[in-house]
Amino acid sequence: MSHVRPLIAGNWKMNGLTSDVDAAADLAARLEGRAPASRVALCPPATLLMEMSRRLAGRGLEIGAQDCRAESAGAFTGDLSAEMLVDAGARLVILGHSERRTYHGETDADVAAKVAAALRAGLEPIVCVGEDEAQRDAGRAVEIVTGQVRGSLPATLAGRAFCVAYEPVWAIGSGRTPTVDQISEVHQAIRRDLVELFGDDGRYPPILYGGSVKPQNAREVFSADEVGGALVGGASLSARDFAAIIQSF
Ligand code: PEP
Repeated sequence: MSHVRPLIAGNWKMNGLTSDVDAAADLAARLEGRAPASRVALCPPATLLMEMSRRLAGRGLEIGAQDCRAESAGAFTGDLSAEMLVDAGARLVILGHSERRTYHGETDADVAAKVAAALRAGLEPIVCVGEDEAQRDAGRAVEIVTGQVRGSLPATLAGRAFCVAYEPVWAIGSGRTPTVDQISEVHQAIRRDLVELFGDDGRYPPILYGGSVKPQNAREVFSADEVGGALVGGASLSARDFAAIIQSF
């Protein structure tokens, strides 16, 4: 049941060339010998999956992708299947990130189909949910997130390894973070949803927080209820900052 351990995952987004794999090796070196409080993953662009998994194999870092297509193969120019990502060395995949939902119009149903594809290929999905600023201001954060959880997580996840990442859209890349109480409220609601959806199996999947996590605020974020790790964007590009966040857990 290694997947029930907390997870701290770095999302490099569309950043990184082959020369930047050195930063991942630097991170592995900084984490050598640390107490295994959490699993650590890096999700680079797909172009770096193979090189990163080759260089980091056996060094305590798991490698993940940032998206996949639901189909396993076919006439889908430019897209990548879950099977291809596994072939390139990925073991996890971020799905339903708000940047995919916004720039590619992904719906909850699209995300659920991708989650099913990830399971089919043996990838562990990290499924992202989160309200935007207008929804938060209207007092609808929990309602929006609950709807996304129910729409994006297929029943076939029961008993399988997966994580949910709560990422308020207004906190991503903005330097703003919710209060500890706001994070706790949404994470508790997600846990209730997971138990309703999956019974006892819903008690274990880690619920990550994501949105402007930095070395300076990591300890506070991790003190919120039901926070089982983090999904970290910008700060994961610096081995020093990402290692400091990991060591705060
Ligand atoms: C993200 O995009 O998943 C994210 C959390 O970004 P940042 O940490 O830069 O806000």
